[in-house]
Amino acid sequence: MEENNIMNTYGRYDVTFEKGLGCKIYDTEGNEYVDFVSGVAVNCLGHSNPAIIKAITTQSSKLMQSSNYYWNTPHKLLAKKLIENCDHDKVFFCNSGTEAIESALKIARKYGSLSTTKDKNVLIYMDESFHGRTMGSLSVTGQEKYQKDFRPLIGGTQKVQFNDVEDLKKNVNDKVCAVIIEPIQGEGGINIATIEFLKAARELCDKYDALLIFDEVQCGMGRLGSLFAYKKFSVIPDVVGIAKALGGGFPIGATITNKKASTAFVPGDHGSTFGGNPLACAVGVAVLTQLVDGGIIDKVDEKSAYIKARLLNIKEKYGVIDEIKGIGLLIGIKLKTDTKKFCKLCFDKKLLVIAAGNNVVRLLPPLNVTKPDIDEALDILEAVISKI
Ligand SMILES: *Cc1c(COP(=O)(O)O)cnc(C)c1O
Repeated sequence: MEENNIMNTYGRYDVTFEKGLGCKIYDTEGNEYVDFVSGVAVNCLGHSNPAIIKAITTQSSKLMQSSNYYWNTPHKLLAKKLIENCDHDKVFFCNSGTEAIESALKIARKYGSLSTTKDKNVLIYMDESFHGRTMGSLSVTGQEKYQKDFRPLIGGTQKVQFNDVEDLKKNVNDKVCAVIIEPIQGEGGINIATIEFLKAARELCDKYDALLIFDEVQCGMGRLGSLFAYKKFSVIPDVVGIAKALGGGFPIGATITNKKASTAFVPGDHGSTFGGNPLACAVGVAVLTQLVDGGIIDKVDEKSAYIKARLLNIKEKYGVIDEIKGIGLLIGIKLKTDTKKFCKLCFDKKLLVIAAGNNVVRLLPPLNVTKPDIDEALDILEAVISKI
């Protein structure tokens, strides 16, 4: 019945999940799976985290929604907590990753419109990028398979080769209002931006008075071992889009701007009915408190090193792995074999992993994953690889 009534937008596994605890998720038949997908980098604190449950229970019994025509305490607290931990100044709240990017693009267009340069509206984006499914985000998503059936997309966009400084230089000029980059392309296959490329982007944006936007929807919120991904690259963007892990499973997104970018919007320019609602923001505060004050992010690098060492060992033992990529707990395994089939083999052995790009399998464990959970997941992975 569900199959008949749910719109046909995803290729789904034949399983219905019903509950989860920590790194484990359970289907309706009672089977237990090790979850290294985490709702695609969303459940940063695992399933059924007590701090998140408490925040939802407490806040929902007080106030869930009041409208952005009024202030509420959780949105002020969450904005304060985010700003205390970055180099920026203002936050706009929304409900998802694509909306966080839409806001960033609108800020860029508004910023360009305030310039003395005429038609300063060009958005530069990267080949193999992924920024979301709404028309604006899709228009700067550099993958033909996502764009091809939805043209015409928004105008004033220009694609450049990721990590190609010369191509970037050729295309950034005074008509450009923003350059948008994922510090690590998640969907595109765990492609890491070079520091040289990000520095060049920063310099060109300064030179031509354009905004540098980082899409940290997947790689932000501690996944790389720092709350914000840009800190790992020592390049500070003007605008940062975050979502996925910010609510630890509850829908919320945010666009963060520095002083240069935050003056662009004035009342009436942008909005969101649900954005900044007290419930989502109370959850966001609980998540950040765990991640930052609870020391969870501090342990990401150590866990990453442990996983990578085991993966390297597996790589050397069997001829199936080509390369191990990624930073922190955003780990990509480039395979010499079909990734879709590989993910299904893992699924059959009760490990959830997800593909990225054409030949990469992603490991996205919760950031509070334990060593026994890691070992369980990697034992299954090794069993699958040894069979291949
Ligand atoms: C998931 C993702 C998005 C889109 O987020 P949604 O919440 O699905 O709209 C945008 N950018 C990146 C880098 C993502 O990984």
